[in-house]
Parts: sequence; structure tokens; C-alpha cells
Amino acid sequence: MWIDTPLFDRSAVGLEGIDRVLDILVDAGIRGIVLGPPWAAEVTETPEQGRPHGPFTDKVFRESLRVHIGAKPIYARWFHAFKPDERLYRFTRLKPYKAPDRGGKPDIFKQILKSSKEKGLSVLLLVEGATPTVFLNPPEGSVMMEDVLGNEMGYNCPNDPEFPEYMEAYMRDSYQNYPEIDGFMIDHLEFPSYTISEIFACFCEACRQKASALGYPFEELKSGARRTYKRLAYLTPDDIVAISTARSGILDSFAAFASDRELSDWISFKVESLNALFETMRACTKDIDPRLELDIDCVTASFALLSGVDLRKLHRYADFVNPKLYTTPDFWGWRGRITEYLKTLTKLNPRLSEQATLRLLHRIFGMELLLGGRTLEETLGAKFPQRVLSSEAQKNLAFLGDMAKLRPWIRLDIEVEELDNLLRALTETDVEGVLVRSYEVATEEKLNAIRRFTTA
Ligand SMILES: [Zn+2]
Repeated sequence: MWIDTPLFDRSAVGLEGIDRVLDILVDAGIRGIVLGPPWAAEVTETPEQGRPHGPFTDKVFRESLRVHIGAKPIYARWFHAFKPDERLYRFTRLKPYKAPDRGGKPDIFKQILKSSKEKGLSVLLLVEGATPTVFLNPPEGSVMMEDVLGNEMGYNCPNDPEFPEYMEAYMRDSYQNYPEIDGFMIDHLEFPSYTISEIFACFCEACRQKASALGYPFEELKSGARRTYKRLAYLTPDDIVAISTARSGILDSFAAFASDRELSDWISFKVESLNALFETMRACTKDIDPRLELDIDCVTASFALLSGVDLRKLHRYADFVNPKLYTTPDFWGWRGRITEYLKTLTKLNPRLSEQATLRLLHRIFGMELLLGGRTLEETLGAKFPQRVLSSEAQKNLAFLGDMAKLRPWIRLDIEVEELDNLLRALTETDVEGVLVRSYEVATEEKLNAIRRFTTA
């Protein structure tokens, strides 16, 4: 179960509440928690009272917050839960975000950790990779991601040459503060692709240097990406036929737009960059303490390669891999992503129907749920059946190739019927464990569904 403050603090209401909640989790068969990221926030509900979650780089972020947190956007003043140890960061230009004074508040993470260990729960500490500025502050001095048109995206770029050094320092710092943890979970270590414009990134200065070091022709990758983006914005009837008759798969479909080599090189460049980082994270974790476990989070198999994550390689670096099996309509979920892609494509190409766009997206991602209806509403409005959810779970397993390392991340903020379908799909796929998110919306019924899964 992921314990993400401040949402968790609010739903559990104080330490006594947290202690009670941990008992409920143990009772539901939960054996461990993911804690963090170790940031705390003072949350207010009017913009005058606090720093906004911003800057917003995309409307989707704003909408996502509304869906995720409730009717009102919330505003927060973030600070590290612990005081960063400056000595650890002396070899890197990047420094932890300089937080406002937290006024001597007790570190809630220390207390949750202590209580969890007493109850026999294992604890992973969540550490952010490419940090979305909309929620947290990336390290100070970060190089920010840029799309192919030069727009700054809302994340620090993991290809910043000093980023691995920073991550190592931050993980050591966290361990000094929470030596009882059982491991780390690395979240968002990716080139995000949640929106169409994000797909066409990153082309920042750090990526240029990295490409040159790895022997990729950066200018060619960039012009290939720019040309593909432009063609997506002016789809001709011939393009649509070309894609609709291509075999399923990102490369096949994208090859209809640009030369194959540029596209596969571009994806390989992202994959190679991230694999080098995963390797560093693994070495660093085991160097800190060999008993520590390393979990790596990623998006679901259908979208992973687009984010530069090659699931087939992750078993080399991670003890467990956590693909996001999020069906939700928010920014990270499948409904949110598909809606964003479809709306952007039909806006760029006013003559493209929803049905044709859904078919096109199905060709690109091979995701079975995209065949659910003729319109967006028909496709995403109904609850996903077990069969559709099984196909995506199995795809994750097939790509990862190692059942023992698959531990998908699921959410409780979906309807109980869909949650049941998802958990049945996972049981059918013989998945042994899941990470559960969104305790704040757990109901008796949903916890029962989890209990059925953990005891199956
Ligand atoms: Zn970059």
C-alpha cells in the first residue's frame, strides 16, 4: 500500500489514526507499505494562502489535480521531511530544493516507519526520478526537459550529467534518516509521455551532450521527431490508411511517418539513457546496504517504450518492477492518457473522427480496451471487463519476462466492480503481489476485494 502524505495524513487524521489504519491494512493482508516521497506539505485550499502546485505546463495537470484531489484545486507549501545533509551533495551542482522552514514539526515519516516495523510491515521509500514540478520541486539547478519545439516541459531531465550523483546523494541522505527501511522504490524515472507534446521530448542541452557521448546523431533524431510531430498534426487520408494497415506496434505505426532508423534510434537513445541510470540506482542501493530491495516503477507495457522504458531489460536492475495498471481518468491513468491523446489528435486534425482516432491509437499501442466502442465515451465510459484487463496484465508479464519480479501498481479510486475485474485478471495472470494506491478512498468493500486477492 502506498502511503503518500499529505493525502494520507488527511484521511488517517493524525498519528493515532495512522496507527489504526496500519492495523486495517495488516488485516486486509497487506504486507508492506511504500512511504513517501519524503516530502511533507502544508495544504491549503485557497491560492492566497500558499504556493500553487505549479507552474502548470499543461491543462491536463490542472484537470488531473481536480479529479484526483477533489472539486477544489489545492495549494501546498512543500518541504523535505528531513533536513538534507549538505555534505552529501558537495560533488554535484544539483542541490535539494531549498524548502521553507518547517517550524520544528515532527517528521511523520519516521513515526509511520516505526509503527509499520512494529506491526511487521516492510517499508519501501519512494524516491522521485524525473520530478513533475506540478507536485514537487526538482533539485535546484536542474536542467529542465524540452520538447522538440523548444517548450519547457514540467520535469527535470534525467540526462542531466550530474543527476545520477544527485540521486545517489539523495538516497544516502534518505537512508541516514530512515535506516529501518527495507528498500527504495524509484518513481517517474522516465521520459514522460502522458501528453502528445511530452512524447516529442526531450531535446534539452543535456540530452544533446548525452546523445553525442552515446554516438547518436542528435540533430537527425530531432529533425525526425519534428517531422513526425508535424505529420501527426496534418494527417492525410493516405497516412490514416498506412497506419491502419500497419501491424500493431509503436515502431510500425511511427514508421509510417518518419524513416524507421531515426525513430528506432530516438527510442533506443531514451532507453539507453534510462538503463544507464537504472544501473546506477541499483549499484547505489546495494552499496548503501546490500539487504535493500530496489523496486522500479514504470507506465504499463503498452506505453512503456514511448517513455523510454524497455520492460524487457528492467529485470536486470530491479528486484521488483511496478508497472502502473491505472485505469483512472487522471493524468497517470489509461483513461486520462487515451482521452488526452484522442482530444489532441482530433483537435489537430478536425476531420479525423473519434472512431478513426481510436482505431489509430489501437494500431499504435495494441491495447485491447481501445476496441471497446465507436466513440471515446463508449470506449472509456463502461467499466473495463476482466478480459481486457487480463490482456494488459499479460502484456506486462510477457514484456518483463520474469513473473517473480512483476508487482503491478493499482489504485483504489476506481469503481469496485472494475477493481474486482482487475484483481481477478491479476489472479488469472498468476501475479503474486500488487502495490495498492489511494488508501484515502478505501472502503470496506474495496478492502474486502484486496483481502480476497491476498488470500487467493
Ligand atoms: Zn533532456
